[in-house]
Amino acid sequence: MDISSLYEQLFQKYGDLKWWPADTSEEVIIGAVLTQNTSWKNVEISISKLKENGSCSLYAISKMEEEKLKEQIRSSGFFNRKAQVLKKLSDSVIQNGGLEPLNSWKDEELDHFFSHMFGIGKETLDSILLYAFHRRRFVVDKYTNNFFSRIGMLKKNENAEFMREKIEDSFSVYQLKNFHAMIVNIGKDHCKAKPQCAGCFMNISCDHAKETMFP
Ligand code: SF4
Repeated sequence: MDISSLYEQLFQKYGDLKWWPADTSEEVIIGAVLTQNTSWKNVEISISKLKENGSCSLYAISKMEEEKLKEQIRSSGFFNRKAQVLKKLSDSVIQNGGLEPLNSWKDEELDHFFSHMFGIGKETLDSILLYAFHRRRFVVDKYTNNFFSRIGMLKKNENAEFMREKIEDSFSVYQLKNFHAMIVNIGKDHCKAKPQCAGCFMNISCDHAKETMFP
């Protein structure tokens, strides 16, 4: 199966998932940090608390006492570290004039700026560039690797990073956003750590299902 057919099959099932669910690009960035190692449900609680307190912005976080920030993001887990990450990130962005000037930066400049920040790993970086800055980025996470290797897009021991360039060249920014969202959805619905192939809409064309269900 080629990558475009894979996208189409997912799209027929999930359609436009309108991911990332946020009112502003700053909220995307805050959510991208908060979602590290926790479920989106927990992030939503933290984001609601920040909004209730009028502090769901990088400027507000930069000005806020770290202890107060920890209280508001407690539901997202690892709140000591995440508060530090958010404070440092917010300070750096504010020192550079906020998000508006950053919007005109080249991809490699944004990449360099965020990737050198404390607590910003590759997955968070890709999410920020794709969803907050609308740059052509493919987000590779555990769902992507599980799904791509089982469906037959990767050879043994290959990582989905191997396909990044091809995917980023083949899809629009809108499609890259939705592609990641659809992969996360199938990862949560069916292609879990222990895949549930019997009820999965991809099982006819999936290598793993062919091997395990129809040997
Ligand atoms: S059929 Fe099974 S292995 Fe293939 S995508 Fe679905 S859940 Fe994953």
